[in-house]
Amino acid sequence: MKRAAARSVRPLADRFWEKVNKLGPVPAHRPRLGRCWVWVGSTRRDGYGQIGCNVPSGRRRCLAAHRVSWTIRFGIIPKKLWVLHACDRRVCVRPSHLFLGTPRDNSRDMGFKGRQALQINPKLLAGDRHWSRRQPARFRRVFRCPPERRARGSRHGSKTRPEATHRGEACGWAKLNTYAVRAIRRRRAAGETGVSLAKEFAVTPAAICAIFRGRSWRCVAQ
Ligand SMILES: [Zn+2]
Repeated sequence: MKRAAARSVRPLADRFWEKVNKLGPVPAHRPRLGRCWVWVGSTRRDGYGQIGCNVPSGRRRCLAAHRVSWTIRFGIIPKKLWVLHACDRRVCVRPSHLFLGTPRDNSRDMGFKGRQALQINPKLLAGDRHWSRRQPARFRRVFRCPPERRARGSRHGSKTRPEATHRGEACGWAKLNTYAVRAIRRRRAAGETGVSLAKEFAVTPAAICAIFRGRSWRCVAQ
């Protein structure tokens, strides 16, 4: 904890703006906004920038860069409001490209702009940029076979023998079963809270949420 405190002597604004490239691209759909200011520091998997900050509770947290940018320029973000991008570029931290809105504003905004699909972090080394595609020799060493022999895509075991993968209650660490999952979905939809269901079924509220939204237990039909 002491080390964390010693590291953060420099003012946040100084540390923040040295990680910003103000010569970013101009958004094609709204050229009047001018150039984006691109975050060149660390980014999250979902494409937003992040920076370590001291939060009021005295602890150190990684916060979203665009939200920090808003706070530096305009002050505290009101509760329950999101900081949204007029330019649609998640790595952008230019205050004039940011505006406050509710989560609903965000999804409506996305619908208008026709970009409902998830943005992929451009820095992520996936697909042809992944080391396994760029370094065949290393691939052979790690997987002990040439790239063309490795079962991928439709030849992968999960596709050729889907029944071999244990899903749902057949999975060794499952804490619930099909009946419980159906009951959770039904009762959550009827208005019971995730917290109370979590207590009853002895799982976390996050697990209830994932079941209800279909992120987990996908093998159990809705
Ligand atoms: Zn921008």
